Amino acid sequence: METKTILVTGGSGFLGSHLCERLLDRGHEVLCVDNFFTGNKSNIYHLHANPRFEILRHDITFPLYVEADEIFNLACPASPIHYQFDPVQTTKTSVHGAINMLGLAKRVKAKILQASTSEVYGDPKIHPQTEGYWGNVNPIGPRACYDEGKRCAETLFFDYNRQHKLRIKVARIFNTYGPRMAMNDGRVVSNFIVQALRGEDITVYGKGEQTRSFCYVDDLVEGLLRLMDTPDDFTGPMNLGNPGEFTILELAETIIRLTDTKSRIVFKPLPVNDPMQRQPDISRAKESIDWTPTVPLEEGLKSTISYFQKLLEK
Ligand code: NAD
Ligand code: UDP
Repeated sequence: METKTILVTGGSGFLGSHLCERLLDRGHEVLCVDNFFTGNKSNIYHLHANPRFEILRHDITFPLYVEADEIFNLACPASPIHYQFDPVQTTKTSVHGAINMLGLAKRVKAKILQASTSEVYGDPKIHPQTEGYWGNVNPIGPRACYDEGKRCAETLFFDYNRQHKLRIKVARIFNTYGPRMAMNDGRVVSNFIVQALRGEDITVYGKGEQTRSFCYVDDLVEGLLRLMDTPDDFTGPMNLGNPGEFTILELAETIIRLTDTKSRIVFKPLPVNDPMQRQPDISRAKESIDWTPTVPLEEGLKSTISYFQKLLEK
């Protein structure tokens, strides 16, 4: 395979670190750009020794002048706690960040992939969600900095494609979990596992009847790599996620069983605008990149649990 120079923004984050690893395994040069807002340097310590791996501390809301053949744009806080911590910066990262990375791609004629999200569908009125659905997003709610930021980034990607013939790929990522999720980011899988391992109460928001579909990180990264390798005229958007749909209560019960914890479930208020259901229709991914997730929820949870177990023992 031809060796490329590949820029991964957000490369020290949860998904980014796994992606950098896979790209290095394929023999590429990888430039990881991160401002370490939510990314943890320990996610990429093991890559430092690789001479094809380079790290640059940089905030993508500012222009970046480097050379690359391909860009994976993953930089953005992804959990509600983190993206709501500084909502203006979240929108800037999505929008100014996209403009800067698209500008870079245009200058160096790179192919560029955007890590978009199922949040562009908001609290969806159709189920499961297909890429043709335009979404149901509250533009002024507490989740809007992320949802609308990501929607605007998609607009920019498609305008750069139409206006400047840029080679773009847009992935709409559904809830993904696995080792190297941040322990403190408030996402449901990491929260429940850490609570269970510590014997603390498991905090289910609302009645726990809302659903999510959880994709294991290895499957997701495989999808991103395949999407990047599609023909130049293929832009997406493409849903990437595991169609297996579970209520949050089911997730809590599964984690309690797998960790054999004495933790009890407690119910807390449902956050504002929390989507009631979410499940990807992945027909497009199946057809275009022959991609289907392979890791069942319990298997993925077991390896995530053992990751957090080791972390908590330290
Ligand atoms: P993460 O928080 O672990 O990673 C995001 C990374 O981006 C971090 O390393 C952070 O430090 C970096 N970052 C944030 N703002 C930056 C900036 N202005 N400049 C440079 N770096 C910056 O989250 P993740 O789960 O790995 O998500 C990665 C991408 O995938 C995000 O764009 C997210 O929106 C998208 N996504 C993730 C999920 C999921 O379930 N994990 C779902 C949908 C979309
Ligand atoms: N959730 C929960 N308890 C927690 C954390 C999250 O019940 O301790 C719920 C949350 O209300 C949402 C779902 O789990 O309905 C997924 O939340 P997460 O923050 O992981 O992702 P998102 O809402 O962005 O899909």
